[in-house]
Amino acid sequence: MIYDVVVVGAGFSSIATVCNLLDQLTPSATVAVIGDDPGYGRGTAYRTELYLHRLNVPAGRMSMFVDRPDAFVEWLRDHKRPLAQGDYASRQDYGLYVRDTLAGLLRSKRDHCRVDFVKAKATGCVERYDSVLGFLLDNGDEIAGRNVVLCLGVGSAQLPADLADLSSSAKRHVIENPWRLSWLHRVEPQDRVCILGSGLTMIDQVLALQARGFRGHIDVLSRRGLAPLGHKRKPMPPAAVDVGALPKSIAGILHALRAIARHEEDWRNVMDGLRPQTQALWQGLSQAERRRFLRHALPWWNIHRHRVAPDVFERFRGLVRAGQVEFHAGFLKTVREAPAMSLCYRVRGSGETRTLQADWIVNCTGMERSGISHSPLLREMERQKLIRPDPLRLGIDVDARSRSQARPELRTPIYVVGALSAGQFWEITAVPDIRLQARAVAEAIATAGPD
Ligand SMILES: Cc1cc2nc3c(=O)[nH]c(=O)nc-3n(C[C@H](O)[C@H](O)[C@H](O)COP(=O)(O)OP(=O)(O)OC[C@H]3O[C@@H](n4cnc5c(N)ncnc54)[C@H](O)[C@@H]3O)c2cc1C
Repeated sequence: MIYDVVVVGAGFSSIATVCNLLDQLTPSATVAVIGDDPGYGRGTAYRTELYLHRLNVPAGRMSMFVDRPDAFVEWLRDHKRPLAQGDYASRQDYGLYVRDTLAGLLRSKRDHCRVDFVKAKATGCVERYDSVLGFLLDNGDEIAGRNVVLCLGVGSAQLPADLADLSSSAKRHVIENPWRLSWLHRVEPQDRVCILGSGLTMIDQVLALQARGFRGHIDVLSRRGLAPLGHKRKPMPPAAVDVGALPKSIAGILHALRAIARHEEDWRNVMDGLRPQTQALWQGLSQAERRRFLRHALPWWNIHRHRVAPDVFERFRGLVRAGQVEFHAGFLKTVREAPAMSLCYRVRGSGETRTLQADWIVNCTGMERSGISHSPLLREMERQKLIRPDPLRLGIDVDARSRSQARPELRTPIYVVGALSAGQFWEITAVPDIRLQARAVAEAIATAGPD
């Protein structure tokens, strides 16, 4: 059988795309979803078992649908977890909402298109006939389609250390993937933990440790020692920012934004004014300026733009103030056993070398911004010239309609939804951005007429 649409991936981007396809396609159309993750729609973000892991976007902006902005708040109310638009729900609840939304759509729309879920990993891709791409699966099957939507997310960054010299018992205390929260059960309350990376994942892990009664010391080592900032408890109106009027250089933009912030009660208003226009701002920059942004401004962008819920921020700051969490800015050089694990790092801005002792090392270096290299499937698709990396190697080179640009004459459109399209859109990791993209891609497929 040849499907009209093959969606590869089973995280939020995939399920948001499928929900929009259910809305847009005719009942005779057929869709296959290939995913190796049984928690459809949850992905790393919404699979957490801990209720304390919160969304970092207010509930009022987390609906899966652009045209039904209250859908998530209504779901919370219906499930006896009433929250206001400006509150921050748990990520676990959000995962349930995504799953329920998909199930509800499949149940309620009697005349919707056919959707088949295939639990497998896509390992390769072959061109079939004139306008069909076949995905080879790790169970030996093949799923072919006339339209493809790649929703693979980005991989997790590798631990920035060579562990070859560590004994196997020490290696068991190095947590490469902190999202398997089972490691928390093995930590003793007074152990020393060293977290590599100081972003949102680090805060999640610190709070998870604390919730399990951990009272030991936590060292956080990252290149700049910067941690995410918090949202304001009482939201304020966004500042009026016209990105069309901003300069076209990173230095000029920074200068202009600082000038706007001086007239605002809080700098967050400027970031909030910028948020719906970030993609336009990025698209207006030359490749050289985009590169400059990534090299010099990215850590500051991240901590100001990707903020945490106010009470999460306050709880975390309390631990820093109490000295339980300590930040170090520097570059990890080696990890040795002597007999506990010693992490040797070069202090930022000096040649000085310091050492941290740890019973546990936890990799919280976050998303792998290494383009397509993390995925054997994508490497294979690149080899066949079905996709190519974008100029900054953040992901796949797509046009403004999210369509792969590698081979314009290819008759099977390949769309990309989610963070792999960052080269074109930059901010395309959060729900408010992905839901717009998922909608546009579903519309493009429906308009072209898959069947
Ligand atoms: C911890 C965390 C918290 C977050 N919190 C928020 C938040 O509060 N608000 C917000 O708006 N955004 C948040 N985000 C952003 C979040 O990443 C997105 O909202 C969304 O979850 C991204 O989904 P995705 O489907 O693009 O990627 P993923 O969730 O990574 O899903 C990719 C899927 O593709 C599958 N896959 C990969 N390769 C293959 C293959 N070859 N074959 C088959 N399947 C494959 C994977 O198994 C996975 O299921 C958070 C992200 C993280 C990591």
